[in-house]
Amino acid sequence: MIKDNLNDVLASLKDGVQLVAVSKYHPIEAVEEAYAAGQRIFGESREQELRIKYDTLPKDIQWHFIGHLQTNKVKYIAPYISMIETVDSLRLLREIEKQGEKCDRVINILLELHLAQEETKSGMTTEECRELLKSGEWKDMKHVNICGIMMMASNTDDETEIRREFNAAQDFFNEIKTAYFTDKKDFTIKSYGMSGDYLIAQECGSNHVRVGSKIFSF
Ligand SMILES: *Cc1c(COP(=O)(O)O)cnc(C)c1O
Repeated sequence: MIKDNLNDVLASLKDGVQLVAVSKYHPIEAVEEAYAAGQRIFGESREQELRIKYDTLPKDIQWHFIGHLQTNKVKYIAPYISMIETVDSLRLLREIEKQGEKCDRVINILLELHLAQEETKSGMTTEECRELLKSGEWKDMKHVNICGIMMMASNTDDETEIRREFNAAQDFFNEIKTAYFTDKKDFTIKSYGMSGDYLIAQECGSNHVRVGSKIFSF
């Protein structure tokens, strides 16, 4: 039962850790079941699938975009998205600013980092992210609200490596918080941890976990 899975996950979270239920590839009915059990934040990774779910499901759901986002897709999600967790370039940030202005919204975003060993993971290296922030261009963006960072750890059984990556995320969060966001009360989110590693993630400072298969697959 989705309800039981959801409650198990919620019961294992520390105070202050927010759950994004990752519903990608799962049908409308599955989201409805989690919704009926009280869940309101859901994560999706494809624009078209998200649009169908957004159109069909209750409007008090907060949708988080967690997949790779092409700039030409931003305009479709800008009117309703609650948070874009996967900002990996200044170019994408500019497009979000532009589309946010068009629909008169301030769009919450996270900076996506690549800290894993695997080549396949998306996101910015810490160096690329430092450059983006150093450019200062984001400071003039009135329709973008930078709320924190997001990352995925390597898909491995090596817990030491996973912890190393989560700790690197925590360190980098502290670094840029101190350098750029000390006065920004919304810069608080550390989004890391999935079904296989969210318990480790929250031990390493995550306050925003994205859990899919543990809730929706059985
Ligand atoms: C699919 C996905 C998740 C959830 O993964 P599970 O292993 O199913 O919990 C979390 N974050 C991102 C970015 C994803 O693509």
